[in-house]
Amino acid sequence: MSLQCAHCYKSFSIAKVADSRGKGLSVEVQCPHCAAWLGHNKFLSFAKMIGFYGGVTAAAIGYFAEDVTFITTPVVILAVIMIGLSHIMDHLQLVESPENDPTTETNVK
Ligand SMILES: [Zn+2]
Repeated sequence: MSLQCAHCYKSFSIAKVADSRGKGLSVEVQCPHCAAWLGHNKFLSFAKMIGFYGGVTAAAIGYFAEDVTFITTPVVILAVIMIGLSHIMDHLQLVESPENDPTTETNVK
């Protein structure tokens, strides 16, 4: 799994992350290149989780109760779309700039 830094735009492996803080949905990682703190959008993480559990629940209900598929099938489809969209939009966001930031001192594009 490869991540892209929202600050220096370099990609790095999740295994190279030396430092992280927080737990669960609010976990933040430190970029190994520029030491900026990066985190996920909490709303999108939440939407992904709701979509996943909602879809699984609807699929399970639809599997065991046959006469509710007119409700559960659209719910499953919506859940899949919700997961897909939140996955596409879920990029790392810059939480905190590095202390010694070379990009803000010199060579600003
Ligand atoms: Zn970086």
